[in-house]
Amino acid sequence: MTLCDLHMHSTHSDGTDSPRRLVEMAKEKGLAAIAVTDHDTFSAVDEAKAAGKELGVRVLSGVEISVEYAGKTVHMLGYCFDAGAGTLKVKLDEILQGRDERNHQIVKKLNDLGMDLSYDEIKAEAGGKVVGRPHFAAVMIRKGFIKERQEAFDKYLAKGAAAYVDRLRFGPEDSVAMIREAGGVAVLAHPKLVRFPEGEKLEDLVKSLADTGLGGIECHYSLHSPEETQQYLELAKRYNLVVTGGSDYHGRNKPTIQMGIGEGNLAVPIQCADELEAKAAASV
Ligand code: AMP
Ligand code: FE
Ligand code: FE
Ligand code: ZN
Repeated sequence: MTLCDLHMHSTHSDGTDSPRRLVEMAKEKGLAAIAVTDHDTFSAVDEAKAAGKELGVRVLSGVEISVEYAGKTVHMLGYCFDAGAGTLKVKLDEILQGRDERNHQIVKKLNDLGMDLSYDEIKAEAGGKVVGRPHFAAVMIRKGFIKERQEAFDKYLAKGAAAYVDRLRFGPEDSVAMIREAGGVAVLAHPKLVRFPEGEKLEDLVKSLADTGLGGIECHYSLHSPEETQQYLELAKRYNLVVTGGSDYHGRNKPTIQMGIGEGNLAVPIQCADELEAKAAASV
């Protein structure tokens, strides 16, 4: 079976491999297609596509946007968009700006709590691209303020913890619209990880987003059980949505997840990539 992996992160967000290295690894693993889906930026896509051309791996444009849904976070994947079209770039820049302002405030709170660290150190940890809370956790561990990542979140960085600060986020409908305006396909990421408010279920969200242009569901995912995958496949069929899949490979930042196979059992058929491309082509 010809396979692909449509969800992974590079050094442009919180992955530890460069875009080019991701393409090399995909080739080594025999994957026919990949999409690099960094958090809130598509800045890795050009390098990945150039490497893909050179090495003979199909590379789809991709991004994973964190959106606000009922006080929780939902991840929306965007595929096969034209980077220069519509307002996608402008909106993602707004998100990055909001992140930057939020990060300054987190630094201040941590300083006030007695931790001697600077934003420059956090940025250096991130490699100068999208700076997120995991980078704060890494610096806090390195400087000996805490022992492990989860402790950093529980005590300081998680929602409601001592140094938590909110940041600008768009809603699910806005994110679907900005992906579609750029000629892309919007896909609900890893439904298993979505937290629902009381009385609300996955189908409610899928139904309302399908009405506003959602194009697909990430049915195949490292952490989905066979039963869950089956349930998501049925949901995709019911709402006429493209089935997609990916590992969410982050390199050393998620050491149990491997590209292509996730925790060992993932297999994403190449039809997922084909159908995304077909849907994007049909939408312009
Ligand atoms: P950011 O995008 O900078 O707000 O950081 C979000 C990332 O932080 C997520 O993708 C997770 O990797 C991590 N994260 C958020 N909340 C928690 C939590 N409560 N425990 C552990 N990791 C978390
Ligand atoms: Fe991540
Ligand atoms: Fe995600
Ligand atoms: Zn991801």
